[in-house]
Amino acid sequence: PTLEFQVTRNLAPKTDAERAEILKNPGFGDYFTDHMVDICWSENGGWHRPRVQPYGPISLDPAASVLHYGQEIFEGIKAYRHADGSIWTFRPDQNAQRLQRSAQRMALPQLPEEYFLQSLKEAIKVDGAWVPSGEDQSLYFRPFMFAKEAFLGVRPAKKVAYYLISSPAGAYFSGGVKPVNIWLSENYARAGKGGTGAAKTGGNYAASLLPQAEAYEQGCQQVVFLNEEGNVEELGGMNVIFVFKDGTIVTPQSDSILPGITRASILQLAEDRGHKVERRAVSLQEWRDGVASGDIVEVFACGTAAVVTPIGLLKGPGFEDVQPTGEVALSLREELTDIQYGRREDKHGWLVRL
Ligand code: PMP
Repeated sequence: PTLEFQVTRNLAPKTDAERAEILKNPGFGDYFTDHMVDICWSENGGWHRPRVQPYGPISLDPAASVLHYGQEIFEGIKAYRHADGSIWTFRPDQNAQRLQRSAQRMALPQLPEEYFLQSLKEAIKVDGAWVPSGEDQSLYFRPFMFAKEAFLGVRPAKKVAYYLISSPAGAYFSGGVKPVNIWLSENYARAGKGGTGAAKTGGNYAASLLPQAEAYEQGCQQVVFLNEEGNVEELGGMNVIFVFKDGTIVTPQSDSILPGITRASILQLAEDRGHKVERRAVSLQEWRDGVASGDIVEVFACGTAAVVTPIGLLKGPGFEDVQPTGEVALSLREELTDIQYGRREDKHGWLVRL
């Protein structure tokens, strides 16, 4: 099924000069394009009224249940401009399916995969000029869905909205890829058994803000969370990958981790290169011992926003372990970004033209 979007053009878009100024140094999440896309859902009417509108405030009833109970989910996916000017996105089926799984967990309606892809295409139709062409630049899409029914009872909303906004993104690391220091949060968890950790829902991120503030106080940029068993989960917004001396690549397996699409892609590329890949529980003890003995030779984080980031220090109450760095993380990063930007053959058919 395809939707017929009703398009209302922004009559006062940014001028070419204003946009060019922003695209010189867009940062991350600071600027938004001239339009947004939305689709309504109601229990009786299903998905309806697909629109493209000027970017701007959303009007909500103060009783809208998202404001009270946080029934909300989101995604993050990018558009890349290739050398010939064409615009592509990366594995949108995976983001569409993850949005559906998040929806399932949060008792929200499932947006069909085709509608998800169509919303990206509609955004590019009106705002394609916002996809930057500089090195490592992209247009970051933020699809999200929330409960807008005005009702204070605690039950799934019967009226929901899906929106897509777009934000130009610069190179995450100016001046080359820099390792991040991470703080081990012992006092706080981001998710628990049977909770919402595997869903991309606002509450998980709200729960990470206080430990994140603690990390900053400790001179760290990111937090790493453990689960009840003392096993490594993930960072606030990135998955973790370990490289062992014998070439084995290991990533934590748990029901409360957000399954990253960058991680899945990196592991596939590593497998293609002949690395053995393991998805299994990794305890903090194994991590620290492995680094101390030299068994673990690289530790890195990965996610859509920063792609791949080596970890410099693991800091916790009373300890500070320097993490080993090596070539594997950076060369996998290069291979992945080469595919995304059309500089290397897309053997797995991951790219979709917008
Ligand atoms: N974990 C968390 C908690 C995240 O927010 C993200 C970013 N979506 C990731 C991992 C990485 O996922 P992806 O590679 O799909 O961006």
